[in-house]
Amino acid sequence: MTIENPYFTRRAAFRGAGALMMGLPTLSVAAPSDPWTNAPERKLTNADWRARLPSASYDILRAEGTERPFTSPLNGEHRKGLFKCRGCALPLFKSDWKYDSGTGWPSFYRALPGAFGKKADFALGIPRTEYHCARCLGHQGHLFDDGPPPTGLRYCNNGVALTYSAT
Ligand SMILES: [Zn+2]
Repeated sequence: MTIENPYFTRRAAFRGAGALMMGLPTLSVAAPSDPWTNAPERKLTNADWRARLPSASYDILRAEGTERPFTSPLNGEHRKGLFKCRGCALPLFKSDWKYDSGTGWPSFYRALPGAFGKKADFALGIPRTEYHCARCLGHQGHLFDDGPPPTGLRYCNNGVALTYSAT
């Protein structure tokens, strides 16, 4: 007969959770209130989104796909301006924060405050931080901690989920 010691069981579980959290590049703190609850984009159905978006953008934004690397024209976009959500035009990144990560995806070391919501993503069996547009909830990319100074962050973004705008 085995007598289970609840103290050690609980401690082991806690250690596991701690290791898991350590693996995430940043611990996102959910916004205390959601300013976009009543945004019209939140009321769109999947059929609405399919009608609104090119299929490649739909696959990323609404189905959390990943575009093939080195395919986005925005990799070579170096003009001053803003990168906005392809789904709802919310400004997400300034061009000043874009850099060439060598990964083949548009990469940024900083995002505009309030641009994103985040959640843990275990699709590959390893914890990653998925981020999505705060307004329309469209999937944008994944956040890593191997970016350049001053933040050390890398927002690895799908190009088809973005638009470039001079202002
Ligand atoms: Zn959006």
